[in-house]
Order: sequence, then C-alpha cells, then structure tokens
Amino acid sequence: MKSSKAGLYVHFPFCRRKCPYCHFYSIPVEPAVDRSRIGLWREGILAEAGRVASGPGFETGGSSLEFETLYIGGGTPSLAAPDDIARLRDDLADRLPLWPVEFTLEANPSDGANDDVFRGWIRAGVTRLSVGAQSFDDGVLRILGRSSTAARTEAFLRRARDAGVASLGVDLMAGIPGETPCSWDRTIEAVRTLRPDHVSLYFLENVEGLPFERTLRANPVDDDAAVDAFERAAGAFSSLGLRRYEISNFARPGRECLHNLKYWRYEPFLGLGPSAASHLGAKRWTNIADFGKWREGAAGSVPAAETVNLDPDTAAREALAAGLRLVEGIDLESFAGRFGFDPADRFRPEIAGLEDEGLIVLSGRVLRIPENKLLISNSILSRLLR
Ligand code: SF4
Repeated sequence: MKSSKAGLYVHFPFCRRKCPYCHFYSIPVEPAVDRSRIGLWREGILAEAGRVASGPGFETGGSSLEFETLYIGGGTPSLAAPDDIARLRDDLADRLPLWPVEFTLEANPSDGANDDVFRGWIRAGVTRLSVGAQSFDDGVLRILGRSSTAARTEAFLRRARDAGVASLGVDLMAGIPGETPCSWDRTIEAVRTLRPDHVSLYFLENVEGLPFERTLRANPVDDDAAVDAFERAAGAFSSLGLRRYEISNFARPGRECLHNLKYWRYEPFLGLGPSAASHLGAKRWTNIADFGKWREGAAGSVPAAETVNLDPDTAAREALAAGLRLVEGIDLESFAGRFGFDPADRFRPEIAGLEDEGLIVLSGRVLRIPENKLLISNSILSRLLR
C-alpha cells in the first residue's frame, strides 16, 4: 500500500493567563502548581493517538498515513517542561508512524527561557520555534494586554538562536488599535535586526464576545491604514530575504513552514487535543473545545464540535480556495490528477473575467492570484467559485 504524507497537530490547551483578544481554546493555569493537569493532558493525547491509529479512517483513500511534520500549538506549549515534550514525542512515535522532518513548538516569549530549556527542546527534536511576538512596541503590547515587552522577546529570540534552534519564526499582528507609523517602524526594525527565518503577519480579528471587543469599539482601527502597514511590512520583509509564500507568511528560502503548507496544499492532517481539527480522506472534524469532555472521550470517542463529510465537488473547491492562498498557486496538472477535472476548463469564463481585471493569472499550467492582490483573495475566490 502506498503511503500518504500527513501532518500531526497537537493542541496544548493551557496558558499562564488569557489574552483579551485571543479566540484560541486555552485555560489559564499556573504550571508550577498545575503539573498534574499537564500530565492529564499528556495521557489524553496518547489515548487519543492510540484510538485514532487503530480506528477506521486512519488509512485514507487506499493509502496509509505517515506523519512527516509535528506541530505542538496552543495555548502555550512552551509552558510544558522540555522533558515532557521529549517524552510526548517518543510516546506518540510508539503509537503513530511519526518521523518528523519538521517539529514546531509554539513559544510565548513572556515566559522567558534559559539556555537549558532551549537545549532541552532541541534534544526533544524541536526544529522550529514559532514565537508569539505580535509587536515590538511596548505601547502596542500594553494595548493588546500582552505581558511581554519588546526587550524580552528580543532576548528570547537571541538566546534561542545562540542555543542552536534550527529555525525561528515570529508571529506579528497588524491592525492593532494605537498602532502608529512609528510603532510599526519599530516592529519592522526588530525583524531587520533579529533576522528570523520566518514571519507570520495576521490582521487582528475582532471576535464577538471577547473582552477586546470593547477596546476595539472605543478605538476603531482604520482598515485602509492597517492594509497599508501590512503591505509596507511585506515590502520590507522581501528586501530582507523573507519571501512571501502565502497571504500572511514570509520565509527565507527553504524555511517555509512545511506543516502549514499541508493545510494550504490540502494534504491530510490529524489534530489531537481539545479544539484540534483533522482532515483525513473525505472527512473533516473538530474536537470539542472542552478539556474535561475531550479527556473523557480521548480513549473512546471524542465529542466533535463539527464533522463534515466532504463530497468530491466540495473537496475540490476547498482545495482550490486553499491553494490559491499560496503565491505559487495551483498546479493544474496535479489538481486534475487528484480531483478529476481541470479548473481552467470548469471555470473558464470566470477565469477570463478575473484575468481581464488583473486579479488572477493563468500561466502555462499554473493558476495563481498575483501577489499584490492576495489581500483581496476572498472576494476573488467568491467570484471564481460562485
Ligand atoms: S498566550 Fe497565545 S494562546 Fe494563550 S491566550 Fe495569549 S494569545 Fe491566546
């Protein structure tokens, strides 16, 4: 049986405190006194991995899965001790075909880390740290309610580099209230100085019901200014050798996030932990975002917040929408091999109209959205796939 290369995501559902703008599932804990909860999480992850590996659907489309990327996100997985991370990786590899060529750990710089911790992560096999900086301006960090400072994040990244972490990514946010051209310059300048291998730059989302909604209501963000700031940063990153490869992601050549590329290339992935999403074969599901309920079901059946059985046409359209987020676009030959039709034929009139307006490029056997139009890709996709 041929094997299919998949990604493995593990959700760590704890943070030291909850940031007011954050919509990811996490519970505030004090790790020094809450080791037992982290232990319960670990047991649940292993039980879920064992159950999924022996259940139906693990072999998809006549091929068996091999996990070539491991991504522990959250939450704040850097709160777990490096030895716990190492044991978790080994125990997962006992249950699943896991030979990661890339192992990402999300880290919060406000918790700090010493050389022993960085070296512990490297010994655990971590090849990439994804560091939640958000901004390198202390005023903006205060508005966001982050407990870190720019100096702390800088020190964290320098120590990680000196300790020998192979690849360093930085997460940044545009569209934060109170951001000014000067504060944005400080963030761009920090990227210039610190030279990360990867940058993710997302717009702050206003999610209904979160405490930050009030801040945004009192200090509305000028969307045009936020887009200008984003494009200015994109230009600066490009001049620093950080090539844009997805709407919001920039990397030195060869340092793209292989795990996230799987989402955009519509490749299989398994998510373990509360709120984690999976997509294997024609099924996509999201685990319940409730630590207690997830743990109770981990060895048997985790309640799903959502399950979707994808018909072939929906899957093909989703794959097109995901692939067109990438600067490289869609290879029509391999798309037709996977989904049984050529989008250049199926969507001929729509593509012609969008081409006339410079919103899509069909060049040889590649369909892509021009880089300078990626930020309006949603409206382009709604016209292409209507
Ligand atoms: S540390 Fe990260 S995951 Fe945790 S609450 Fe803040 S933004 Fe969310």
